[in-house]
Amino acid sequence: MPTTSRRALLRAGLLAASVPLVGISAQRAADAGPAPVGPNGVRVRPRPAAWVKHGRIARAAGMEREVDRCGSVRVLWGGATSDRVVALTFDDGPSQEWTAATLDALSAAGARATFFVVGRNVRRFPDLVRRQHAEGHELGNHSDTHADLSVLSEEQVLAELRATDDAVLAATGVRPRVVRPPFGHLSGAALAACGQLGHDIALWTSCMKEIGLTPQGNVDALLGELRPGGVVLSHDGGDQRRAVGLAALPGLLAGLQDQGYRTVTVSELLALDRSATTGR
Ligand SMILES: [Zn+2]
Repeated sequence: MPTTSRRALLRAGLLAASVPLVGISAQRAADAGPAPVGPNGVRVRPRPAAWVKHGRIARAAGMEREVDRCGSVRVLWGGATSDRVVALTFDDGPSQEWTAATLDALSAAGARATFFVVGRNVRRFPDLVRRQHAEGHELGNHSDTHADLSVLSEEQVLAELRATDDAVLAATGVRPRVVRPPFGHLSGAALAACGQLGHDIALWTSCMKEIGLTPQGNVDALLGELRPGGVVLSHDGGDQRRAVGLAALPGLLAGLQDQGYRTVTVSELLALDRSATTGR
């Protein structure tokens, strides 16, 4: 793993001064042994030194590989492929406000996506999750309560992930394979928990920004920066900001089609990566 220059990241504005370290040494963190028992009897793993702020930082840190392997867990930033494919991803749903309209836009363009759902929302709106599954989209795990997994113990992370797995399984009959940690925050405990459950992790290469950009501004920015194997983060749960992302979606889909891109799910993107087909 390349050594991260903290100063370079600070200069690039990608690292807050309060962040202790970036880059990932997950194997070391995952091998750190059992967490100490705190005064209340709860096992608490302190925030590990290896901590990923989000995909942009790891990319700025000079990572050449788009998929890394942390023990048995693969961490996807973007697909290592020259095929003109992109993975559209939607976090935080399902929601009554945004999910159905998002599905309508994807359906109209014949596009497929991955929805990283929050377990408590799945239990509220199982019909929307069933529709996502029935229309060929992938369901991923975005924790049960949208918790910051990087500050939880391994047992707490396991509980968050298992509850969402169970909710999706109950709604669709299919168990999620990929986790997107809320806020893109990871820790050794979170990686170890994903390893125990057999999940891979997906971060992202591009983001629907919503704030400060019009729908067309978002479309232009995304089409300008997307490369083969890109992963776009958007949301189908949350407040009125989502209206911007939703309004941008048809234009983004049309633009991708014009540029010869095909949409794939995150698991399909992982399968395209050479390293993802060996050793597992
Ligand atoms: Zn989220």
